Amino acid sequence: MNNFTVKLYFDSKSSPRLFGADEQDSSSIQTEFQQALKKSRDCNSYAVCLCTGRELPLAVKLKNEKHHLARFPLTGNKHKDECRFYSRLSPEGAQGTYNNDAITEKPDGIINLKLDYALQTKSVSDDIPATPLTGDASRKRKRGTVSLCGLMHLLWENSGYNRWFPKMDGVRSSTLLGFHLWTQACEIEIGKTRLSKVLLTPAVTGSRDSARNSGAVEFARQNKCRMVVVAELAKYSDKYISGVNRLPVKDFAGMPFLGLDTSRWNSAIERFPHEFSGWKNGYKTFIIALTDVPSAKSAQVRQLAMMMTSERFIPLDSQYEGMMEQKLYELQRSFFKPLRYDSSEMEFHPDFCLLDVQSQNHMPFPIEVWGMKADAYIAHRREKERWYNCEFGEKGWWSWDATISGKLAIDSSFPSKKISGYTNLMKE
Ligand SMILES: [Zn+2]
Repeated sequence: MNNFTVKLYFDSKSSPRLFGADEQDSSSIQTEFQQALKKSRDCNSYAVCLCTGRELPLAVKLKNEKHHLARFPLTGNKHKDECRFYSRLSPEGAQGTYNNDAITEKPDGIINLKLDYALQTKSVSDDIPATPLTGDASRKRKRGTVSLCGLMHLLWENSGYNRWFPKMDGVRSSTLLGFHLWTQACEIEIGKTRLSKVLLTPAVTGSRDSARNSGAVEFARQNKCRMVVVAELAKYSDKYISGVNRLPVKDFAGMPFLGLDTSRWNSAIERFPHEFSGWKNGYKTFIIALTDVPSAKSAQVRQLAMMMTSERFIPLDSQYEGMMEQKLYELQRSFFKPLRYDSSEMEFHPDFCLLDVQSQNHMPFPIEVWGMKADAYIAHRREKERWYNCEFGEKGWWSWDATISGKLAIDSSFPSKKISGYTNLMKE
């Protein structure tokens, strides 16, 4: 991993300064480089990496009295492969709660991942329990495998469907999403199997996506592989509560009959109460399923996870978050949704982050939605408030307390949009 030239910006009165690879001396806080980093941060300005020749934003952070440059969220894969800020993974977020067995980036850029259950089976009857391992990983107690939920988050994040810029309006669709998830899956292997070979995604009849799905079924059948299905649930109906014999999904062209027994369906409904209730209330809800090795016409679903999204396919943890996301959209804000993967509740992540204004720590500006008032949650909330104040500064984050008013009001305390060179960089 190499250093490349970085450029530091200050206030409008001082011209930016370049520091070459061997001029980034942080041996003491008195070095020119450290002084310049401090000045940049004091001006609430920013830095960029020039490894590719164009400007890629970096955050200037203060840690143990020294300033240092850090990768800006969601930009790791835009740096040159040899650059120290390059990564296709984002270990600074919830991905950092997996160890190297669970997820790792190989030298050729392929992401290798170990799922809770292997895709290769020795026999069709290898059993998979309906209830998956729980998501309780933390930075102290890292997880050695990735759950289906975690895999869905990885696909969503790597294909950019957890972020939103106003210019995306009207562009997204579920089949296009499917194609983009598949494109990411081309560079992900699970064990020794390339995920794209066994991934089914939303498709309409007669489309290339449909043909691709059919091809994946054929591959899985011949190679005795389990399949991974990502699909949007069909419109909710009460008839689904009593049980289903097939997974009720839409846009299933090219997919086999996805058989599902009632106990596995009920288990999923119990494990995903917010998602189920969102589905009932008309929210888009996606499933990710692991199936047995398919036959020519059908595949039995062995494990299932659900995720609710907005109309714009932004993942949501609650319907309050849905209201917040809708408001951010109406205000034409740029934002992203940090994804939780398999991390525990005590690993803190903002509910949303604005990309068109900075926190006091030079990072995307966090938005929190407080949605519950049970005693246990209050303690959790106090701790998370302390975390926000410490990481982002007391005025460096914003929250909506939905337990006081279910009506979301955006008042003058809400940070206004600051279009700057910094945020323009993030639009690409
Ligand atoms: Zn770089």
